[in-house]
Amino acid sequence: MNLADTEIVLGILQNKGFDKTDSANDADVVLLNTCSIRENAEQRIYGRLGNYKNLKGSKPDLIVGILGCMAERLRKNLVEKKSIVDLVVGPDEYRRLPELIDLAYNGDKGIGVKLSKTETYDDIIPHREDGLQAWLSVMRGCDKFCTFCVVPFTRGRERSRSLLSTLHEVKQLSVRGFKEITLLGQNVNSYRDGENDFADLLAACAEVDRSIRIRFTTSHPQDLSDKLLLTIAEHPNLCNYIHLPVQSGSDRILELMNRTYTIDHYQNLIEKARKIIPGVSFSTDIIAGFPTETYEDHVMTLDIMRKVRYDGAYMFKYSPREGTKAYRMKDEVSEETKSKRLHEIIDLQQLISYEKNQELLGTEEIVLVEGLSRKSEKFYAGRTDTNKVVIFPKQNEIVKGSYVKVKLNKATHATLFGDFLDSADISTKNLALTA
Ligand code: SAM
Ligand code: SF4
Repeated sequence: MNLADTEIVLGILQNKGFDKTDSANDADVVLLNTCSIRENAEQRIYGRLGNYKNLKGSKPDLIVGILGCMAERLRKNLVEKKSIVDLVVGPDEYRRLPELIDLAYNGDKGIGVKLSKTETYDDIIPHREDGLQAWLSVMRGCDKFCTFCVVPFTRGRERSRSLLSTLHEVKQLSVRGFKEITLLGQNVNSYRDGENDFADLLAACAEVDRSIRIRFTTSHPQDLSDKLLLTIAEHPNLCNYIHLPVQSGSDRILELMNRTYTIDHYQNLIEKARKIIPGVSFSTDIIAGFPTETYEDHVMTLDIMRKVRYDGAYMFKYSPREGTKAYRMKDEVSEETKSKRLHEIIDLQQLISYEKNQELLGTEEIVLVEGLSRKSEKFYAGRTDTNKVVIFPKQNEIVKGSYVKVKLNKATHATLFGDFLDSADISTKNLALTA
């Protein structure tokens, strides 16, 4: 999401005549787009500010700005505590950046941290380098207020971008040769544009160009609709992949988190999705050590992982965030216990991913060729529609951005390996499944 926001910021600034440099040493303005979701994300930014302090020593006119969630969360404190910061601009005020940069040039501090109920940057053309993959925000903000999460405070209320402007951007990406588009929102199930919901948006995007794979993230388990599942099954270029964060396997913890679903509901949803979309793969987010989490709660998390058998997971230690409800709960889980539980969760997920990948050996997958493998120029790397990385011997007649059939012959927990079979066409892939 931050990458997509950075492209919007670049689009706004380039419209006003700014250019991008490859190195901070050549820049007049350095902008850091920040995340506040966990403490360590913010710590990294403080580290980076330390580096720019030295640069500013040798270039006193350099403007240093903080954008994004950290700007929203810490506001004026940032300029007061960190003297090298000239600009603090939250996620809904990027249109004012040129004006705020001017202010900073004239010696004032540029601060823009108002949240908006309507800003979607609908009309801004983001600056994107050429490539195969694009990220496209279709919603901003979040109304869910999970008790651990800072997003509703830093990114404001939920609002959707219009379907028409989204389609327009997908068309532009098609003309430029992009092959994979990920639609982004904190909770895409809440997408609305008049009569159209997220399933309508997905279907419309899929129809623009059948050679483009469409992905999306994130779905909240409370309101993943049957219509959305049926839409994924129906359209061959909508990827058979759903990121469905569970956070915890314990109903008691889920309630404390204000996640508004039970594990029973979650499991039923997974079962239903597997029936409607054969071969669908799931990934998830898990938090270890939420306040009051007992060993039994933790075991329930391991249990849901074993039951669902996710293809992948993003796993985190709970990080208390000021201003959230959970921040005021007694944090009874020690750092040591959080780390131990997180390691158990990571170890289990690696084992499950390994086993699931072994089950794929001997099968054929359609892979979007992304380019040479990082480890050897003799191999290509690509991705399945279930978002798994596949490595196979380079074929001279095959170019980056094409789809190929690969027969899998080896796998680790993170990577699949195989032999090239043939070129492939994704526009009919799922038709048999929906017949
Ligand atoms: N909107 C998405 C959803 O609810 O599924 C998640 C967006 S959030 C930016 C990504 C993930 O960060 C969450 O699913 C959660 O697992 C994790 N996260 C959020 N706040 C956290 C916190 N205070 N400590 C640890 N992990 C956190
Ligand atoms: Fe945060 Fe919950 Fe909103 Fe996701 S749904 S962004 S975890 S408040």
